Amino acid sequence: MTTMTKTPASAAQITFYGSLSATFATRMGGLAGTPEQATAKATEWASTQSMKTVSDAITSLKDKIAAMPKPAAPVVEVGYYATEKDTFFVTQSKSTGKSYAKKWAVKYGMKKATWVYAPGVIYSLAGQTPMTLEQAKAFGHSHGYCIRCGAQLTDPKSVEAGIGPVCAGYWS
Ligand SMILES: [Zn+2]
Repeated sequence: MTTMTKTPASAAQITFYGSLSATFATRMGGLAGTPEQATAKATEWASTQSMKTVSDAITSLKDKIAAMPKPAAPVVEVGYYATEKDTFFVTQSKSTGKSYAKKWAVKYGMKKATWVYAPGVIYSLAGQTPMTLEQAKAFGHSHGYCIRCGAQLTDPKSVEAGIGPVCAGYWS
């Protein structure tokens, strides 16, 4: 029982190896089980191994992950998205065809809102449905701005509708 004389893997090592295995499982797109399964399997294994063995396993798994192709950005439908905290506009790059998200940004008193590039947000929007015209109008009512063009709603008809007449056409 030579393993008994070796230094066992540390808790931090085991945890790290577990999370690394989850990353690997994610990148494998489910072929290596779910991230939770991968973590459970990896931590169970690592907790019976020596520090040296787990350290080597970490190095080899890191190399494996680094050699894998970068995950493609998910295809998210162009449109407006509301999350609990923020509002985003998803658009597509003309040059690469990849979709990316911009975050709604407005400062008090500004006549026009802007959209600011939100790196990485596109991943969290995958699978969500873009806003309907009704939701866009509700946004206009609560924010006082047209979600489509960002202009402050001042025309009484637009204020009532929650969106500018031309911009409402985007949904038709
Ligand atoms: Zn508008």
